Amino acid sequence: MVKETKYYETLGVAPTATEAELKKAYKMGALKFHPDKNTGNPEAEEKFKEISHAYEILSDSQKRQIYDQYGEAGLEGGAGGGGGMAAEDLFAQFFGGGGFGGMGGMFGGGGQSRGPPKARTIHHTHKVSLEDVYRGKISKLALQRSVICPKCTGLGGKEGAVKKCVGCDGMGMKTMMRQMGPMIQRFQTVCPDCNGEGELIKEKDRCKGCNGKKTIVDRKVLHVHVDRGVRSGTKVEFRGEGDQSPNVQAGDVVFEIEQKPHARFTRRDDDLLYKCDIDLVTALAGGTIYIEHLDDRWLSVEILPGEAIAPETIKMIRGQGMPSPRHHEFGNMFIQFNVTFPEKNWTDNAEAFEALRKFLPSPQLQNVPPTEAMTEPADLEDMDASSQNRAFGHGGMMDEDDEDGHPGGERVQCASQ
Ligand SMILES: [Zn+2]
Ligand SMILES: [Zn+2]
Repeated sequence: MVKETKYYETLGVAPTATEAELKKAYKMGALKFHPDKNTGNPEAEEKFKEISHAYEILSDSQKRQIYDQYGEAGLEGGAGGGGGMAAEDLFAQFFGGGGFGGMGGMFGGGGQSRGPPKARTIHHTHKVSLEDVYRGKISKLALQRSVICPKCTGLGGKEGAVKKCVGCDGMGMKTMMRQMGPMIQRFQTVCPDCNGEGELIKEKDRCKGCNGKKTIVDRKVLHVHVDRGVRSGTKVEFRGEGDQSPNVQAGDVVFEIEQKPHARFTRRDDDLLYKCDIDLVTALAGGTIYIEHLDDRWLSVEILPGEAIAPETIKMIRGQGMPSPRHHEFGNMFIQFNVTFPEKNWTDNAEAFEALRKFLPSPQLQNVPPTEAMTEPADLEDMDASSQNRAFGHGGMMDEDDEDGHPGGERVQCASQ
């Protein structure tokens, strides 16, 4: 049994109210009677102070106990007297930031608990060619963003034309009450009068520039530096160049650099991977292969006679990879050779075969049956490519390369002579 109920009545709760109920009741009352919203209304101000004081006492379990037992008198004599927190301070502590200015977040549902609210960041993927990454460049990118309307400086209309919504008292949210048996449930809902804007502007008073929206769409050109050797995934940030909105910090724009796949090269860090078809004759007898680089140059590579490039051989050209992003040293170029054999029946000139037999090393006869073994003639049959793959379980050999992270690294015929 409590001695007095005044503080509970002030907050509109029962003496059995839980901490959460007290908190809720204070919130509602403080918002309703805050002096900022009740200018020239001393009664509301008085009420605001009373609510704050009541909550201050009841939210402190020790003080609440004393109050319940001895009433207001008990507090004045003992623990609860003096040193009370000013109503405004309590309010600020509760809602973060002083006064009503900082309260947008609470009702806007933005959940921005720290710092001033900020407009959303505009993210954009900037796709660049490997050539552009190799040389570096500045991309001029046009951006559509909303900016504060210059005509009304973000007011939406002439000074005074913008009226606070009466339905929600400018909060954009409305507290509704519903009787649920013995309980009165309070809940908040978006104000239907102003659609949560908290403001109303008469059609004829709307700013002609923005039609009362306070912002207009603007086209802005940003210069995005694609640095030499920049890696995919690098982010280029433009702080405060994004969307603007009244009472909100301008948003940022973030470009993420993404390198497009290249027809000839696959990039691996600072190295370039290159797949090169080489004719059998060049692989054996030598010749020159040409590789078109990422700038205007072509590399000419001498294959020495007798080098005998075997299929799948990998060789390196030092310093012909990508520039490293910071030091501008160059990575290397790795070349994987695919030796292309002549077509079936490429010649019927018997002399050609004679010549080959004469000049190529003699076959190393390794797997020869012993003299007493029986030998039986067998014929070779042709198979199509997919049957060949299936036979040895190498289904999708080409795809395997792609999974290894060489997308787009198509085989390119080297010009050869
Ligand atoms: Zn305007
Ligand atoms: Zn409203």
